[in-house]
Amino acid sequence: MSLEEARKLAYIAAAGNALKYGEARVNPVLGKILGAMPQLRSRAKEVRRLVEEVVAEVNQLPKEELIKIAGRVKEKKRAKEERRWPELVNYSKYDRVVTRVAPEPNGYPTLGHAKGLLIPFIYARLYKGVFQLRFEDTNPRVERLEYYDAIRSEFAELLEATSEELGIGPPKWDVEIIESNDLPVFYKLCRKLLEEGKAYVCTCSQEKVRANRKLGLECECRRRGVEENLELWELMHTTLREGEAHVRLKTDMKHKNPTMRDPGIFRIIEAEHPIQGTKYRVYPTYDFSISVEDSLTGVTHAFRSKEFEPHVEVQKTIIRYLGLREFEMIQFGRITVEGVPLSKRYIRPLIKSGILWGWDDPRIPTLRGLKRRGVSFRALARFIFEMGPSKVDAIVNMESIYALNRKILDPIAERYMFVPDPVKLVVEGSELPEDAELPKHPSKPSLGTRRVKLWPKSGRLEVYVPSSDLKSLRAGERIRLWSLATIKLTSVMPDMAKGELAEHQLGVPIVQWTPVEGCVPMEVVYPDSIFSYRVLSGFGDPGIRELKEGSIVQLLRVGFARIDSHGRVTRGILAHR
Ligand SMILES: [Zn+2]
Repeated sequence: MSLEEARKLAYIAAAGNALKYGEARVNPVLGKILGAMPQLRSRAKEVRRLVEEVVAEVNQLPKEELIKIAGRVKEKKRAKEERRWPELVNYSKYDRVVTRVAPEPNGYPTLGHAKGLLIPFIYARLYKGVFQLRFEDTNPRVERLEYYDAIRSEFAELLEATSEELGIGPPKWDVEIIESNDLPVFYKLCRKLLEEGKAYVCTCSQEKVRANRKLGLECECRRRGVEENLELWELMHTTLREGEAHVRLKTDMKHKNPTMRDPGIFRIIEAEHPIQGTKYRVYPTYDFSISVEDSLTGVTHAFRSKEFEPHVEVQKTIIRYLGLREFEMIQFGRITVEGVPLSKRYIRPLIKSGILWGWDDPRIPTLRGLKRRGVSFRALARFIFEMGPSKVDAIVNMESIYALNRKILDPIAERYMFVPDPVKLVVEGSELPEDAELPKHPSKPSLGTRRVKLWPKSGRLEVYVPSSDLKSLRAGERIRLWSLATIKLTSVMPDMAKGELAEHQLGVPIVQWTPVEGCVPMEVVYPDSIFSYRVLSGFGDPGIRELKEGSIVQLLRVGFARIDSHGRVTRGILAHR
């Protein structure tokens, strides 16, 4: 790092400084450079002289010039972001990039699905390719129609938010494919494998198959002739029962990758399919369906979670045996959330036992849970984008998602007041205000104000304030009711306080409040951990009644919260501070 580089950086920082404050100043620029290039700290004097020169020069420049210089930072930043996403392997081999997300409709999408959705989506859009949504629905026992719909609507919403956040689009999948519609094609391909002796029907018990696979032993079924295999294949569709027969790929029972030891490719599942009903009873395994369908539907880059890595070899073998079109298979790392289970296996019993409220419980990172908590999908999009398509498994701390969410919400969330554990404060006087004009957002006057009626009566104005604020105050001290008035307390008792209007003084504590008349009974849920939550009861200001369910606001001194429901009591869920 040289002084020359420091000079370049100084120009950019000074230009930014000048644009922001009307004039560049030495100290902030110097601070920025020494922060970015700590190795120059020992030469601080020289660097200061350089910065003084640059600042003097920059302050002479016209605004357009400043914008140009400062703009270089943005360009650099953007280039850095794009660089974090590695180039798509062999993309030039294909006329057009085709990617897909292939969820199984067996549950509600989680944060893990968000990554599985956004990686192929972002790539498809960056490369101006085609993006498919494909339902990987070939295990009818666990699949349900409601999950198809949940996936469609939640994915659509997440793509919408991603387009908005990252500026890429269109925000929708280009094609939707229901894989189970292609079962007849899969059957033909399986028949072909049987006819060519590349697969066989195995009628051994599950235990025997497992043991043989471990020991590297072949079973008698492997020596069956083509005719007999085809006959059994037909019987699988008619009279054979679940577990009595399955089709296995003929590879090598001593293969060093145990997954490759004659893997199963078709089995009988006697369950009603959510779309196909009872039309079919033979279903392909994941290895067969995903690879064959990727090939048949023109996918050029198939993204998979890394946990399936040992299966890549199986999938490539299936494609090769069938002589189907090849494509790129790319692995990405899994997401786990610190302290919270993502797997349906763990969540389901917690819901059943009543510990969780449902799949939209704000304590779990399902997409609907995150939404109910007030996490903007834009924050999720930003989060996944910054994480990138890395192959490394990531342990996510929800706080990092909340931090992004805060950045998105802070400039737009309107401010309301919730008074927990309320105590009545009676303001006495002859000239009490009739109403209060509250800013919707104190640092965004453009968002306007809202009016709250105060209903003073015969020289008394009654408001609620948090008891915790009054506890530490005594008669004679002052308190500031946010955006309304400063009050000098004349008496403080445990269940009520009195006061009068007073001049504002520096250092007076500012508190949230609500008029007694018109206040909204409210509770705010604090999701603590997956096993617990707290509820704070109190009153909201009258404006809260007007908020639509689902609105996200900032409750002054409490945090960002989503209005969950209006009933006898309005319920808010705290997203985070
Ligand atoms: Zn067998």
